[in-house]
Amino acid sequence: MSLILTEAQLVQVFAHIRAEVPNEACGLLAGVAGRVTRILPAANVAENPAVEYLMDPHDQLRHFRTIEEQGLELLGIYHSHPTSPAYPSLTDLSMACYPEAVYVIVSLMKSDAPTLRAFRIVDREVSEVGFRVVPPTAELALSICVSSRKSGETSGAPTASGALLPQYCDHKSAKNLVDKSSFL
Ligand SMILES: [Zn+2]
Repeated sequence: MSLILTEAQLVQVFAHIRAEVPNEACGLLAGVAGRVTRILPAANVAENPAVEYLMDPHDQLRHFRTIEEQGLELLGIYHSHPTSPAYPSLTDLSMACYPEAVYVIVSLMKSDAPTLRAFRIVDREVSEVGFRVVPPTAELALSICVSSRKSGETSGAPTASGALLPQYCDHKSAKNLVDKSSFL
């Protein structure tokens, strides 16, 4: 299952990551059925935050509570690599203990064009997973879909999911967005 983010969410993640340079930034991605609805940034309390991350346990607990209270799922864990490629490091492999979550890594090696890649890490085995970035129009439909699901008004509510699918960007569009984001 691929991960689906809105453009605004991607911008939010990049803003957090840039704000933490030269250190690694980290946070959680929560949502429903692969669609991210909440970005939950956390403080990096690692001993050497420039080359590793350790999520502040207080932030983590608070975020897990939010996820549970809002009936969401933990979809992903994101962090940045300020000076190395967007690929799990040996430390990332040994620290990965959520096999159901997608590990999103953003590399700032090319500061004018950040690279975002997504992986699943199970028993230190890495497999790349896809991600999609939906445009603002789809984002609006997505919020309608999610809010109607939340309030339980499923009958007669707009069924955004069907109409939404053809509008999804592919990896190329996502890359364009990544490139564009360098001007933020
Ligand atoms: Zn890492």
